[in-house]
Amino acid sequence: MSFDRAWQLYVDGEFVESESENRMDVVNPATGESFATAPDGTAADARAAIDAARDAFEEWRWSDPTDRAALLNRIADEIASHRDELIELETLENGKPLYQSGNDVAAAEKTFRYYAGGVDKFYGDTMTHTPEEVRQTTYEPYGVVGAIIPWNWPPMHTADFVSVALATGNTVVLKPAPDTPLSSIRIAELAADIVPDGVFNVVTGGLEPGIELTSNPDVDMVTFTGSDANGEKVLSSTADNITPTMMELGGKNPALVFPDVDLERTVSGVVRSAFYNSGQACSGSERLLVHEDVYDEFVSSMADAVSSLVVGDGRNEDTQVGPMANQAQEEKVLDALESAREEGAEVLAQADLPDESDLENGYWAPPTLLGNADRSMDVFQEEIFGPVIAAVPFTSEEEAVDLANDVDYGLTGSVWTGNVSRAHRVAAQLEIGLVAVNNPNRGGLGIPFGGYKRSGIGRKKDFTETMREFTQPKSIRIDLTDDHFDL
Ligand code: NAD
Repeated sequence: MSFDRAWQLYVDGEFVESESENRMDVVNPATGESFATAPDGTAADARAAIDAARDAFEEWRWSDPTDRAALLNRIADEIASHRDELIELETLENGKPLYQSGNDVAAAEKTFRYYAGGVDKFYGDTMTHTPEEVRQTTYEPYGVVGAIIPWNWPPMHTADFVSVALATGNTVVLKPAPDTPLSSIRIAELAADIVPDGVFNVVTGGLEPGIELTSNPDVDMVTFTGSDANGEKVLSSTADNITPTMMELGGKNPALVFPDVDLERTVSGVVRSAFYNSGQACSGSERLLVHEDVYDEFVSSMADAVSSLVVGDGRNEDTQVGPMANQAQEEKVLDALESAREEGAEVLAQADLPDESDLENGYWAPPTLLGNADRSMDVFQEEIFGPVIAAVPFTSEEEAVDLANDVDYGLTGSVWTGNVSRAHRVAAQLEIGLVAVNNPNRGGLGIPFGGYKRSGIGRKKDFTETMREFTQPKSIRIDLTDDHFDL
């Protein structure tokens, strides 16, 4: 299927060009070739979308929750019936293997259905109802939500925030990453006949529309998913208007391997967590902490697994690891590998990169297992967001927990052990938002997802937690008596 067509912004129910008429290339990272262009939106484009979302909010906020549920299910139906196209599109703009895009598109569909299933059962509370008074709480939408997302799961991130924003009666302006604008625009096209004008808007582009979303006083809530360095800037900007801000940021996630594990199964889990999505997963493992008793054996099995990973064009059926999603990512990962070597880390295993001539201009970084690392090194402390995992031995449970917590992040972590008491003990002590026991940091709908420390503020993917993130409680206290009041 050709995707080289007039992709446009979606503002107030219309597909339009940017007021600047500038366009940006959308590149297939496996080949380095542009296959489409999208509008390079400006602050003025974002303002037009915010204005449209504000106008639409006045009616949308009072819409019947049952109608909102039906609408979300219809968007899910559209995603399901355009599944193959969305999969191909994501793999083209992001590079990941087709089966992984399949997982993302399925997750996008399910996410719309998940919130649809509860919208009309999301109640406030009546705390007191006596002849004298009523005390109650309702949960009200904020208004216009500005949702800024990165490039690593474009359809899923679109669904993560648009679904719950609409479910809660907010309107939304979505700003996808400049590298992967098309999945979001395509979902907007599929939703266009379903959603009232102005309720859902998409402004593609780089920093400019993003900054407008974080600084415009008509945006009532911001949700930002990206790096913690940019998260700091976003928080500084939203501070000016005291705009509530949800932050889904980076991680430096540990996998803790104890001696009592099923070795083969654990290797498969850690490999999955470190190299899925080319390691460009906020939840992926970048630190491998292994008990000294099994360190040599475990690391040697990991090395075999890493060296046999099949790296290639995501459109090839046998590809397990695709390219880096963009050139900046390729450079970042290769630089991190270089400085890890300079710090004294040792490359224990690396997978081969593809040698096809049509892929030579793609963005490639080899899946790598490092050894000889320690907690003083950048490779232990700084998020790489690529296919690199560094192994470090530990001697006791106490040391494992201390190593795991000795970073600024706290997004996910996996504990691999056959001892249920140890699993609970360790999980209780980790400063981490999602602790996975004997699985590769698996989240999912119904599991609140978000980070401790520099990994973020707020939780997504859980009905109760996330519906509350996107609403503000209003308490109402009603006096039913004729009593006068003493001073
Ligand atoms: P990024 O911070 O460079 O960009 C993310 C988005 O924010 C893009 O749309 C970008 O244009 C926009 N942006 C950047 N600076 C901005 C600013 N100052 N104001 C407004 N908008 C701005 O992140 P990235 O490189 O695209 O994504 C990778 C990062 O995202 C990693 O750190 C990863 O861990 C994190 N991430 C976190 C989660 C999570 O759920 N916690 C999920 C995926 C990715």
